[in-house]
Amino acid sequence: MEENKNIQEETAPEKETNFKMPKIKLPEFNLPKLDLSKLKRLKLKKNAKILLLAVVLLVLVVYGMLTIPGMIDRNNLKKLGYSEEAITKIYELEWEGMILTDELYSDNLNRSIVKENFRKEFLDLYLMTDSLNDDDFLLYSKLILKGYEKADVLSMFNQLEFWEITPLLVFDFVEDTAAYIKDVDDHRVVNSQDSFTLSGNYITYYAETEPVVNQGSIEMMVNKRFALSSDYEPGDLVEARVRYASKGLILSQTAYDTLTQMIDAAEAEEGETTLRMYASSGYRDYAYQEDLYGTYVKRYGEEEADTIAARPGHSEHQTGLTVDMASTSNGGLSKFGDSLEYQWMLKNAHKYGWILRYPPGKEQITGYSAEPWHWRYVGVELATKIYNSKLTFDEYYMLYMAD
Ligand SMILES: [Zn+2]
Repeated sequence: MEENKNIQEETAPEKETNFKMPKIKLPEFNLPKLDLSKLKRLKLKKNAKILLLAVVLLVLVVYGMLTIPGMIDRNNLKKLGYSEEAITKIYELEWEGMILTDELYSDNLNRSIVKENFRKEFLDLYLMTDSLNDDDFLLYSKLILKGYEKADVLSMFNQLEFWEITPLLVFDFVEDTAAYIKDVDDHRVVNSQDSFTLSGNYITYYAETEPVVNQGSIEMMVNKRFALSSDYEPGDLVEARVRYASKGLILSQTAYDTLTQMIDAAEAEEGETTLRMYASSGYRDYAYQEDLYGTYVKRYGEEEADTIAARPGHSEHQTGLTVDMASTSNGGLSKFGDSLEYQWMLKNAHKYGWILRYPPGKEQITGYSAEPWHWRYVGVELATKIYNSKLTFDEYYMLYMAD
């Protein structure tokens, strides 16, 4: 066996030399060369990716923190009732905090924010009343200025009509506004914009008098509060033609010119009866008024005299812009209220700049018994405004003209 082994051993190399290995082509592996710098870069790249992810996440979180509350706020504003348009404006104005904190909403508020005429100082009014305009804001401000508490004014706005509040501008300060509201409410059946009466007495006449603010202007306010100075006399007094007035009647030129135009127009109108009217009283100076009032005081006492004649300085006749009208066909001044001429003037006088100064139904505001014959010239513009407002001149003046 040993030999065999040897043979085997001997032959083996021979075999080896003869054997040709088939050439196997091995696929070439392009193994990356182990490059340390490349490894490092890979590591860095991985770090950069993590960092980037972190940054993106952070940005998302921050963005979310910033926008999600905003989205919730927008949604809450929407829930309160605001329109998309209003919400956008609320954000522009940065009012979202204020509105959301107190959950403020009214259709008024929404509307005015959209219209961009919202006024922050009247916020309570927006929340309370159905519709608001500049007149409401003005009335509100004037009452606050007069000394009324905000809560009382809001309560009045909540329960009363505009024209039920405006007399307060003329009245003395009312301590008990709840009682005033009740008084107004008790007269709802009979009261209207044309007639306003109350049970309470809200003015003490002549208690607080002051000089006429706009003395000399055609818009000057003369009443039981505002007095003309004893030496005031219009600079353009003229004597009226008898065609238009009682003999010797004196009037301010401006007023006289429009008076003649008005009378001409009335008389030119074609109707069943021809209208005929004239001014029976015009300018009266301070001394005349002093005598007149003095006579009444001697005869009836001061209290009674005050109901018949104005105290000197407080008569509108001293302005030269006032006339007492009479109808030729209807028995003069005292019956003017029953005449067709009066009806015509009620409809048309404002177009010539004249207003009925002491209307029936407004006695408690003007402080005068109804005087259908007593007309005042204030110019076409103001007369038309007063006419349309349905307010007395006294209220109109306090609301729109006085400081
Ligand atoms: Zn008069």
